[in-house]
Amino acid sequence: MKVLVINCGSSSLKYQLIDSANETVLAKGLCERIGIDGAITHQKAGGEKQTWQMDMPNHTKAVSYVIDKLLDKEVGAISSLDEIDAVGHRIVHGGEKFAKSVIITEEVMKAIEECNDLAPLHNPANLIGIRSCREVMPNVPMVAVFDTAFHQTMPKKAYMYGLPNEYYEKYKVRRYGFHGTSHDYVSHRAAQLLEKDIKDLKIIVCHLGNGASVSAVQYGECVDTSMGLTPLEGLIMGTRSGDIDPAIVSFIAQKEHISAEEVINICNKKSGVLGLSGGLSSDFRDLAGAAQEGNELAKVALETWAYRVAKYVGAYAAAMNGVDAIVFTAGVGENNTAARAEVCSYLNYLGITIDDAANQKRGEEVFLSTPDSSVSVMVIPTDEEMAIARQTAMLVK
Ligand code: AMP
Repeated sequence: MKVLVINCGSSSLKYQLIDSANETVLAKGLCERIGIDGAITHQKAGGEKQTWQMDMPNHTKAVSYVIDKLLDKEVGAISSLDEIDAVGHRIVHGGEKFAKSVIITEEVMKAIEECNDLAPLHNPANLIGIRSCREVMPNVPMVAVFDTAFHQTMPKKAYMYGLPNEYYEKYKVRRYGFHGTSHDYVSHRAAQLLEKDIKDLKIIVCHLGNGASVSAVQYGECVDTSMGLTPLEGLIMGTRSGDIDPAIVSFIAQKEHISAEEVINICNKKSGVLGLSGGLSSDFRDLAGAAQEGNELAKVALETWAYRVAKYVGAYAAAMNGVDAIVFTAGVGENNTAARAEVCSYLNYLGITIDDAANQKRGEEVFLSTPDSSVSVMVIPTDEEMAIARQTAMLVK
């Protein structure tokens, strides 16, 4: 089955055409600057990446360009639109309404719209992606895959905040968690690599990218995760602060004569390792280079980042009363050997021993722990698009 995976942002649209039968990517690309001017970058499997400047006044036009590229004789991957069997859409927030992926109907679209308040930057854009695809491909079945769905198994004690209950009742203020597709994919793959049933395992997944979150997956179900009502909570990230004392928001607002919204914007876009490093960079490669050259702020940023990850791992080992496997994934988790080593340096108490040679590997599945380690530590590259294609194919079949 050929599945078109769509990840639609407010001015961008990422896509991959995946053959779900043999799990191969046939073509992929990105439309950018939608509504401004427009450009499409497209790559057929085994081909060169090419970029064209195009007039893209809206997402529907962007989708029609994607289809043109997929059908193109030279750079395309299909000869007729009928070859697209289904479209899988990444949807950021499913609130409490969606605990798994669903076939998209008018009713589903309405329910996604009702979650707009919870993800005002993402859900409206995701919906535009759905509507645009329905316009261009009215007869193709579509599936919504939610970032929040995997975390819906969390018990109440893990998702409630210590706030007046009325805010949960009135506004559904609670922990939701994000990166669910990745945590789901990686935890299941970990069980496969361990040759064990996921129902017998306690796994901690560290999704460490520019955005980052940790989750506790007990017997195949998420029981806790570090992101909250929004993706701002939890770990220190590329530009996001993660956990802070909530009183800091009004404190800085008063001192700087800015609004609470502006402080939150700073917490989202100017904090994390970018902020800690004095604005040097949100990219871990830059920070590692600067730290090596003796930049004290870069060093502190990396140390503070790793310490926070280690604290969450400890918390989730406690939450599950044990842990069988710890998995690193996403850009930093898959590639940054020094960051992994720093996090693992806090984990000796769990009986973990790391094979330093194995930890030199990047971007591939590998066991970092030695065979006698009491907890397996692994790297598993995440593949959210493939996971979306898999779930889409399963539902449409
Ligand atoms: P993501 O959001 O998952 O794409 O991750 C982005 C982060 O991964 C950036 O901060 C990069 O510094 C980091 N990253 C990607 N590739 C490498 C690499 N080869 N070595 C170190 N860090 C990397």
